[in-house]
Amino acid sequence: MKAIAVTPGKSNSARLIDMPKPELKPNEVMVKTIRVGIDGTDREINEAQYGLAPIRQDFLVLGHEALGKVVEIGTEIKDFNLQKGDIVVPLVRRPDDCPYCQKDIQDMCIKGDYTERGIKGYHGYLSEFFTEIPKYLVKIPKEIEDIAVLLEPLSIVEKGIRQAWSIQRRILWEPKNAVVLGLGAIGILACLVLKTLNVRVYAYSMEQGSDPKVTLIKEAGVDYISAKDKDIFELPSIIGGNIDFILEATGNSSIALKSMSLIGLNGILCLTSVTGGQNKVTICADCLNLDLVLGNKVIFGSVNANKIDFEKGVEHLTFYNTHYPGLLNRLITNKFKVNEFKEALEEFRGLKAVIEFD
Ligand code: BGC
Ligand code: ZN
Repeated sequence: MKAIAVTPGKSNSARLIDMPKPELKPNEVMVKTIRVGIDGTDREINEAQYGLAPIRQDFLVLGHEALGKVVEIGTEIKDFNLQKGDIVVPLVRRPDDCPYCQKDIQDMCIKGDYTERGIKGYHGYLSEFFTEIPKYLVKIPKEIEDIAVLLEPLSIVEKGIRQAWSIQRRILWEPKNAVVLGLGAIGILACLVLKTLNVRVYAYSMEQGSDPKVTLIKEAGVDYISAKDKDIFELPSIIGGNIDFILEATGNSSIALKSMSLIGLNGILCLTSVTGGQNKVTICADCLNLDLVLGNKVIFGSVNANKIDFEKGVEHLTFYNTHYPGLLNRLITNKFKVNEFKEALEEFRGLKAVIEFD
């Protein structure tokens, strides 16, 4: 079968390969890939900044944002919830033997020996077929099949927000103002999820006010402030009220650091940018520290997602599909065929590039 693979550690090594179709084990299902989203992580892996091949192999099949159709069910599977023809999205991370992983909370792994499909030590989904055990598959209602390739990035957002809301049970928290930094897929999806939570949502990013991404979030009721017009430190005065929650998704660690001084009293900042480089900045450490202490502020990082976050994501995709028909489809801006994978990996102008299998 056709697959798209890289040699981790070797820059620009993405290539089309031919590999054997995986053998179906009795406890697995066979999934035929429909489409796979491409994100910054895939591009970083292809640029040799990230990524690890499975042990004793010298290549890694890329792709972790997949949507597929179940075509065969292993003989030992008793999960009658899953049938041939079902549309599914697979989780990304697989557990090691740490206490969290062993309780199916591998997104909070404390050992680091987890694998991630298409990223770290385990082949991904950019192949015609893949096998998986049902536990790591999320069933997709037919109505949202077109947009469900967004579920994996959405799961990252769901987890970050779930964690923030759970941490804030430390106080009597009634958040009114939320800020999203960056309008990549994560930022836009974060705006949309936050809009369902009864807070006023402000997005701040590099795009001009006329950008299609900005139009999209405005249709969902999000306010937009362009970095082209305003400095990031002006946000508190523009917003006026207390900034209760910030989700940072710019992919830029300098901005992540600056965002720490934007948090309002008792507020919380969720960092989601996976920054592979070595960027260094100088800050007033006393100022930042004092501000965090005197304001009882929280900063936390969030990576990957739990199965419950994928399930919550299905609810939100369904909500938006019903109440804002067509809105989420507009996030999928560039569709490529398998042999156009190079263009997909290079596509930066659009929002979400996907590779479609036939
Ligand atoms: C993926 C996550 C993964 C993270 C770190 C992200 O692009 O969406 O599932 O945990 O990269 O490898
Ligand atoms: Zn673990």
